[in-house]
Amino acid sequence: MRPDQFAPEDQKHLLPQPGGDLVYRCLDCGSEHSISELLYTCPSCGEVLLIEDKGFDQLKKLSGAQWRRVFDLRRMLNIPALKGIFRYAELLAPVIPLDSVLYLGEGHTPLVEASDLLKGELGADFCFKNDGQNPSASFKDRGMAVALSYINYLVKHQGAGEILSVCASTGDTSAAAALYASYLAPEVKSAVLLPQGKVTPAQLSQPLGAGARVLEIPGVFDDCMKVVEHLADNYQVALLNSKNAWRILGQESYAYEVAQDLDWDLTGRVILVPIGNAGNISAIMSGFMKLHQLGIIDELPKVIGVQSEHADPVFRYYQENDPGKRVWRPVTVQPSVAQAAMIGNPVSMPRVVELARRYEAQAGGPRVYVVQVSEQEIMDHMILANRHGHVVCTQGGESLAGLLRAQAAGIVSAGEKAICDATAHHLKFVGFQQMYFENTFPPDYGVKPRPELVNRPEEVLALAEQEMPGPGRPLSGEAFAKFVKATALEVAARLGLEKR
Ligand SMILES: *Cc1c(COP(=O)(O)O)cnc(C)c1O
Ligand SMILES: [Zn+2]
Repeated sequence: MRPDQFAPEDQKHLLPQPGGDLVYRCLDCGSEHSISELLYTCPSCGEVLLIEDKGFDQLKKLSGAQWRRVFDLRRMLNIPALKGIFRYAELLAPVIPLDSVLYLGEGHTPLVEASDLLKGELGADFCFKNDGQNPSASFKDRGMAVALSYINYLVKHQGAGEILSVCASTGDTSAAAALYASYLAPEVKSAVLLPQGKVTPAQLSQPLGAGARVLEIPGVFDDCMKVVEHLADNYQVALLNSKNAWRILGQESYAYEVAQDLDWDLTGRVILVPIGNAGNISAIMSGFMKLHQLGIIDELPKVIGVQSEHADPVFRYYQENDPGKRVWRPVTVQPSVAQAAMIGNPVSMPRVVELARRYEAQAGGPRVYVVQVSEQEIMDHMILANRHGHVVCTQGGESLAGLLRAQAAGIVSAGEKAICDATAHHLKFVGFQQMYFENTFPPDYGVKPRPELVNRPEEVLALAEQEMPGPGRPLSGEAFAKFVKATALEVAARLGLEKR
């Protein structure tokens, strides 16, 4: 629909107007800094920042019901800038005018209900939100849409010159950063730093395809991240890692979409999300809190972070129940199939600590949990889900495995329904599936294939080699007819087909 086709009283708030009073807020010393400059850490104390809208209370001029109506009506519009996550512009980054919004098709990924068979097999009630159905096939596009829209705004309206964006990545950040930056050429150029050999071939192909400079650095992600931080502190670059608080705003859209797709009713809902650098879980908590503060939702859902035994610093931190006694200790990671979350020293840990505290204060009780799963459980549940109509990555398998652990621990009870975050598309991580099917996992992963989940291609050789077609050697006539018949016979026998 066009805006002028809506009732006059609905037209008033239909299109978001540039506004808000955004500042960077330091999570440690509380200092406030202008967004006119790109900042990643607090100039006073060096801690990570969040972006706060000092005008947030202005949004309370509309009731929760009015906001719900605004967002629901916007669904009907065909304005590209409002088709993605900027449907929720007032909650994300209201300073960015619609003419600067970069929309590549991100967001509004589907909630896919698990089949009755799969639910029965696992004894769990859940759906996946498939964030693999984003343009670069992971949820990272949500954050990049806001970070690069803001850069676009600085270039278009604030006279920023050429910008070089950089990021370190476990694969998906660089894929998303390179994609969104490439749209803004020539003003924006991008370079990505990857831990050599620690991203999948599909993930490596993405920034290469988008034309970014790809620099491979020895070590694991945590080493790479330090190099990028050094660059951001000492050179003129735009950092696109999740230290960049604009990305957190974009990733809040996950919470808004979940709420809207459930008709704003989150009673008895549980959100499961894998934790790597901890940006995503921070954003999801922040998003639900904003909805709750505006009366758009009545209840804050449980949020459960999931970590692999091979990269579990956040889980270990929350093992101590007494907040006063918790001690933060980064861990040295072991090889993990949840490779995109294989991070021992998450950049956003201070955000998690602060936002989880606020979340539970706002909810009036415990609502944030972290569970740990094994590499074996991650693989088994990814494969199991994908055998029942899903297309989830290893991290999606991690979310599902986390749900079962949370049920066993009594964190999730009967009658509650889970939304498991499938953070990327299955195809980005097929190498792990292949190792599972071929039983070729290096021992340090500790994964043994369950025979009933293994699937392998079968060769069908019905005739001698010279009687079958080969490369550059097609068959014809009688020889071809013989080949077709013999092969069909063999296939029918293997599949146990009955004659008709
Ligand atoms: C980045 C990423 C994660 C981890 O998210 P964080 O925000 O770093 O915690 C999980 N899964 C996939 C597929 C990712 O790309
Ligand atoms: Zn500070």
